[in-house]
Amino acid sequence: MAEVSSISDALVHLGRGPDENGRPVNLPISQGSTMLFNSLSEFEAAREARHEPGTLYYGRYGNPASFELEHAIATLEGGAGCISVSAGLTAVTLALMGAAKAGDHLLVADNVYAPTRGFCDTVLARYGVEISYFDPMQDITPCLRPNTAAVMFEAPGSGTFEVPDIPAISAAARRHGALSIIDGTWATPVFCQPLRLGADVVVHSGSKYIGGHADSMIGFIVCNEATYPQMRKMALAFGDKAGAQDVFLSLRGLRTLEMRMKAAEAAGLKLATWLAGQPQITRVLHPALPQCPGHEFWKRDFTGAAGLFGVVTRKTSTEKLHAFVDGLEMFGIGVSWGGFESLVLPVQPLRTATRWQEEGHLIRFNIGFENPDSLCADLARALPLLD
Ligand SMILES: *Cc1c(COP(=O)(O)O)cnc(C)c1O
Repeated sequence: MAEVSSISDALVHLGRGPDENGRPVNLPISQGSTMLFNSLSEFEAAREARHEPGTLYYGRYGNPASFELEHAIATLEGGAGCISVSAGLTAVTLALMGAAKAGDHLLVADNVYAPTRGFCDTVLARYGVEISYFDPMQDITPCLRPNTAAVMFEAPGSGTFEVPDIPAISAAARRHGALSIIDGTWATPVFCQPLRLGADVVVHSGSKYIGGHADSMIGFIVCNEATYPQMRKMALAFGDKAGAQDVFLSLRGLRTLEMRMKAAEAAGLKLATWLAGQPQITRVLHPALPQCPGHEFWKRDFTGAAGLFGVVTRKTSTEKLHAFVDGLEMFGIGVSWGGFESLVLPVQPLRTATRWQEEGHLIRFNIGFENPDSLCADLARALPLLD
């Protein structure tokens, strides 16, 4: 696995193209479908090698900018290769398709991103893959079946922020001959590199922090040596492709990713700590705070925390929840996160293997780059609407 001695240096230098005189600082947007060859034999050689990363053959297989971006992200994660796809959900679904076939069993964490669960239950189940869900905080050994092909989980879980034991889950899967696939969107490679902790595949929604400005949709499948060929073949067989503009925006996002993550961490912690002291809030679900399940794993395996966390309110009515959310002036109402702007959204955890015990409402905040004091003041003004 490639080692990155300084993530700051890597984020600035990776994925900038060849060293030639007169080069622009940033690679231009690689727009194009057909690629032309000087002879039929050169064309045939490219066709032969079209599954190899870096081979210019046809736009769907990759172009100079997408290969640079994939190399940059694979290097940051310590992976053997990366496949850029059209959205984060596509990264999840293609990785699962690449791991499991009809007759296999897939073990999925109970707190995964809801559309991941949706894909498992509506598509994979229909194609003959057995799906079962596990408590992300448990030892998975008793849940593994003879036909378990892969374990899919998130660190931390979507909406509820439990941090699982990545090395233990990955090791148990490997002992069993199953792949471990982890959704690492929250931490980005700046704060956690799961392949270095034993996972086989990491998927990311680049639409969140990597793009970082709520203006791009892209996903990444980052693989170790053993899984890269099969995952790349699967993605190419499906014909999915990240858009040229989104590849450009991801490369640009990488340049400031560490700074943005650190700013999001500081502001997120400030707001989470403040919210923990408010009478309307019974619990704060933030991996860097001790009351979050798996906080000890976060301390061991992560170097920082994103600006996305949850709070649980005192038991109160739906009308009061609406009044509070609508009463906030600095927080946008909408899905997704990881952009420069603060967001608020109530979340209803979907559980089948565990029970969500809280009686109050679960509200998720994405803390952006506004002045944290203004965000606190806005919350202080709206929180009494929950009383
Ligand atoms: C948003 C999200 C996705 C899906 O990414 P898109 O780019 O929106 O398709 C996958 N996993 C997690 C954890 C997410 O938050």
